[in-house]
Amino acid sequence: MHVPFLLHDFLKRAVYHYPEKTAVIDGERRFTYTEIQKRVNRLSNAMRERGIRKGDRIAVLSPNRLEMYETFYAAFQIGAVVVPFNTRLVPADYDYIVNHSGAVMFMVDAELAPLIEPVLENLSNVQTYVTLPVDGFETNADWLSYDAMIESASEAAVYEEMEETDMATILYTSGTTGRPKGVIQTHRSLYNNALNTIIHLRAEDDDVLLHTLPMFHVNGWGTPFSFTGMGATHVMLRKIDPALITRLIVEEGITVACMAPTVLNMIFNDPSIRQATIKQPVRVVLAGSAPPPSFVKAVENELGWTFVQVYGMTEVAPFLTVSHIKKAIRDENDMDRIHRLKAKAGMSMLMMEVRVVNEDGEDIEPNGEEVGEVICRSNSVMDGYWLQPEETARAIVNGWYHTGDMATLDENGYIDIVDRKKDIIISGGENISSIEIEGTLYEHPAVLEAAIIAIPHEKWGEVPHAVCVLRGGQTATEQDIISFCRERMAHFKCPKSVQFVAELPKTASGKIQKVVLREPFWENGRRIN
Ligand code: ATP
Ligand code: MG
Repeated sequence: MHVPFLLHDFLKRAVYHYPEKTAVIDGERRFTYTEIQKRVNRLSNAMRERGIRKGDRIAVLSPNRLEMYETFYAAFQIGAVVVPFNTRLVPADYDYIVNHSGAVMFMVDAELAPLIEPVLENLSNVQTYVTLPVDGFETNADWLSYDAMIESASEAAVYEEMEETDMATILYTSGTTGRPKGVIQTHRSLYNNALNTIIHLRAEDDDVLLHTLPMFHVNGWGTPFSFTGMGATHVMLRKIDPALITRLIVEEGITVACMAPTVLNMIFNDPSIRQATIKQPVRVVLAGSAPPPSFVKAVENELGWTFVQVYGMTEVAPFLTVSHIKKAIRDENDMDRIHRLKAKAGMSMLMMEVRVVNEDGEDIEPNGEEVGEVICRSNSVMDGYWLQPEETARAIVNGWYHTGDMATLDENGYIDIVDRKKDIIISGGENISSIEIEGTLYEHPAVLEAAIIAIPHEKWGEVPHAVCVLRGGQTATEQDIISFCRERMAHFKCPKSVQFVAELPKTASGKIQKVVLREPFWENGRRIN
């Protein structure tokens, strides 16, 4: 007999085994698993009363907060599909994605309501708006208040008949390389990943997880499900605020924090955070891009935190690989080697087949030098892009999802991401990794952040161009930066020009948007590859 496993079964387990344990902390509010389950039941009944049925989409525009966590579970219990939106878009983007998703209910954090107000008239599918209250912010009088909505509803548990392959969420991609695409994730793809998270990030019931990554971004990398299943405690973080992060790490005894590299960088460079949090038993999970080994070493040795790197993407719900190792393969006491391995994306997770292939689809040699595209096959892979069958067919070929990321493979089966296919610089016939040059730039004492992009060049076709943010109080010239690189790298790889800016354009999850940086140099912001 086939017994479907559904995402709300994670919550059921926590309620059964950890009824009185604190499930969620959001500012001054703390709720146990039993209390959360009751609120979730009320919310699911209230959603049904408002006409939500299996397969209906519920859009959410919210930072990490209690109500967002509850919305996932309430929607899942009645078979509805959650569509969390990035909070850093502009009204025209919301117009596009709300309509594209066909959402009929829209939960909106009161502070973020101005982002959609200019386009409300265009959102023709939405029948019910729900305000998630925020102190000091007006609640739109025509909208339902979340608190009022759940107050009047029944506490009786409702569970829709469902299959694992039913849709659970549609998550729009970060839009780092273009217009966001709606990735369909099923209960199965998300629980498959949650099991991998539990195993590889070693989730335990005494863990206290700080939600530093936004939950609208591949559900904060699946942690609202995996860590719930294990009965851990969730601490919501609405804004990236270094002082608040420090206080939460110390006062709530945070044990796990998943972060984008830019956030970890910010924490690492803030002396007061370093002072306060040093030697706290934190596992920091770095998601989103590869750091240089020197950075891994510094985090582990100077902060005393355990460093784990994961590699993944929205389309794979999200994890493919992990570099959580305690001992280096072969030479276990060689810490430099461990840090070098941890700086790589790592080895494939369980229930996940990963290959690196050349243009003919053949596996590349595991010699750490040949570069190929990462492809994968697993139940974690998306069903497809919502309403984009052609894009889906381009991405999933013969059952293998093509990531668009280029990597090398070493003799231990460790993958090292070289670059995105779209970001590689093709200069005089040589492929140059933007990530490699950025690694060198980050070693420069005056450089706080850096991005390398390809710009057009008459002779070489393309050349690397550096865009740098300097540390406060530090100075450097274009020539200093170029010479610094020339001392450390092959000359053809070095940036040919350097631009200094106060800030780099980033997605809501903290990724640098190279497409925006490239815009002034290329027609329509795109290279004609
Ligand atoms: P879009 O697809 O809309 O352009 P995006 O690809 O940035 O946006 P995500 O799914 O959030 O959207 O990000 C996944 C991508 O992030 C991966 O394809 C890869 O390029 C990069 N990435 C993720 N983890 C790592 C890592 N550990 N090392 C290097 N790159 C990583
Ligand atoms: Mg992508």
